[in-house]
This record gives sequence, C-alpha cells and structure tokens, in this order.
Amino acid sequence: MEIFKHWTLFGVHIYVSSIRMKRRRSVDETLRNKNKTLRRYKKILYAEQEGCCGDCGKFVPVDGLEIHHIIGVSEAPGLMLKKRNMVLLCPSCHRERHRRDAGDTDSRGGKPRGADSSEKGGSDGELQ
Ligand SMILES: [Zn+2]
Ligand SMILES: [Zn+2]
Repeated sequence: MEIFKHWTLFGVHIYVSSIRMKRRRSVDETLRNKNKTLRRYKKILYAEQEGCCGDCGKFVPVDGLEIHHIIGVSEAPGLMLKKRNMVLLCPSCHRERHRRDAGDTDSRGGKPRGADSSEKGGSDGELQ
C-alpha cells in the first residue's frame, strides 16, 4: 500500500516536471550541449597538449586542467566553443593568466612604480 502510494506520487511528479521541461527545453539543451562540447574539446586539447599545462608545461591529470579562453567569453561570446580559442592550463597558471589580463588593462595608462619615484622626486614632470 505504502509503496503503491509512493509510486503514484512519483508518477505525478514526473508528469508535472516533464511539462515544465518542455518549456525550458531549448535553454536546457543549449546548456547541456555547451557542456558536452566543452568536455569533448577538453579531451582533444588534452591529447594535443599531451597532458601538459599550456603555460608551464607541467604534466597534470585531465581533471586538474582547466579550459582557458584566450579571448574572454565576455569579449567574444562567439568564440566560446571554438577550439582555437581554448588552451588547457593548470589552476595556478590559469589564475596567473587572469591576474595578468586584468593587470594589463589597468596598467596601460601608467605604471604604479612611476608614482613611487614621483613621490621621492617631488616633481616627475621636471625629471623627464
Ligand atoms: Zn601551469
Ligand atoms: Zn580562463
């Protein structure tokens, strides 16, 4: 009896969620395909890079490598699933890349070290 009741509830639950699924199917499927594509590319890249980090060249098990997008996804969403825009990096190199990328855009105007020397000299305009 208990089991029967449970199964009925279960059946209703499946029925309800399948109606919901139909509406959101396209979104779910795109996401699923994206993950599937990324996983597939990761395998290909892993073979191409022979299991090594793209920056430091250290051998890392496949689960330890992360996909880095050379041109950021926010900059070029169209390149998100393009293999030529991907490189596998170990977590520390991956972090370093993003840190450097962020730093590059920040320090393009002027170096922070210049500010230090101007403090000492008093007037950096005259020294130049
Ligand atoms: Zn590395
Ligand atoms: Zn990245």
